Amino acid sequence: MNADTLLALDRAHIWHPYSSTSDPAPVYPVERAEGVRIRLKTGQTLIDGMSSWWAAVHGYNHPRLNAAAVRQLEKMSHVMFGGFTHDAAGELTELLLGILPDGLDTVFYADSGSVAVEAAMKMAVQYQHAAGRPQRHKFAAVRAGYHGDTWHAMSVCDPVTGMHGLFAGCLPVQFFLPQPPVKFGGAWKDEAAAPLADLLEKHAHEIAALILEPVVQGAGGMYFYSPEYLKAARELCDRHGVLLVFDEIATGFGRTGKLFACGHAGVVPDIICLGKALTGGCLTLSAAVTHKRIADIISGGAAGCFMHGPTFMANPLACAVAAESVRLLLESGWQDNVARIETRLRRKLAPAAALSAVKEVRVLGAIGVVEMHDPVDLRRLQPKFVERGIWLRPFGKLVYTMPPFIMQNSDLDTLSDGLTAALREEYGA
Ligand SMILES: *Cc1c(COP(=O)(O)O)cnc(C)c1O
Repeated sequence: MNADTLLALDRAHIWHPYSSTSDPAPVYPVERAEGVRIRLKTGQTLIDGMSSWWAAVHGYNHPRLNAAAVRQLEKMSHVMFGGFTHDAAGELTELLLGILPDGLDTVFYADSGSVAVEAAMKMAVQYQHAAGRPQRHKFAAVRAGYHGDTWHAMSVCDPVTGMHGLFAGCLPVQFFLPQPPVKFGGAWKDEAAAPLADLLEKHAHEIAALILEPVVQGAGGMYFYSPEYLKAARELCDRHGVLLVFDEIATGFGRTGKLFACGHAGVVPDIICLGKALTGGCLTLSAAVTHKRIADIISGGAAGCFMHGPTFMANPLACAVAAESVRLLLESGWQDNVARIETRLRRKLAPAAALSAVKEVRVLGAIGVVEMHDPVDLRRLQPKFVERGIWLRPFGKLVYTMPPFIMQNSDLDTLSDGLTAALREEYGA
């Protein structure tokens, strides 16, 4: 399709994430993508600083992922999971069991991150119900979190930025804790967990689970906090019979420097949610993984089963690509790459901290964040990035990058320098 025709059609008929149809922000037509480069229909190529929202950790168009997709496609792209099973799900499960924290061994496959969060929340409610505590059907969450856009996932997102006001009356009301106050690398103090201790003391009898993004809060604020918080949460949840759910949809598969962010604390949750990089960003697939012990309690409840079953559950095409993506990750020296990216971003983003419009620069693993004092104007800033041949998509006060793990230093430098130069041009020194 010719670029102008596409743009006109898109503008007239297609929604984009959080988009307005009456005043749509510009979109850029993409022709193809290869490695860390996205080629626009204009012929221009952009260095990808976003990994398509945490997902494309191996870059785009990876021959091994493509080959895995083709092999599976020639067998079947899909078959219902009710009453059938297949090698793709078996192989992926075997690989996940090999890398997930100890004991997480019972996998529910779903089709998007939000749905994995919904499934995890339903597991928690069914678990409490089956354990004879049916009044425990609320959730505890921390402020500035992000867990997805479906109803219950939205109910545990930050109550301000998560649009709880807009949906008041139709959204379940949950318990919110302050953001974990000790930053990553900061000195831990026990008072940091006091609000959680208080909440559980008073309300555990109504709470099914605490849900957290471990160590890195993503779309809610790109905030890095002390892993010690997870240890305190584990202990308090155990004491009060509250399940602990870790949403690792953004942080899973190496992004923070550990295969899973809970590895920074050595804490094992009762349920872990996976998504995004699970398929290396090729296809949509997610999982909520729990322990057999918990799954068996759920299964022994009134319903006699876990009450969820998506049409495209464990889609073979997605599972086959995910299995290859996990193999590729484990063979790729991801840890060295993430450490290299961390060092490089730390050095190359440091000059941005000197700009007066910038509040703080922080880096953890393959995540670089430039927090501004005020919200940025995406429509003004994005063209300045594109002009410099880089792809970034800031939101609110946050200009950030989480590049594919394969990005070479020279591209990381172009990305970091371009980011800083665009900010300098827009806001001055
Ligand atoms: C992206 C994200 C989700 C939602 O995943 P979708 O695939 O967009 O539904 C949930 N939790 C976290 C932490 C995420 O980053």
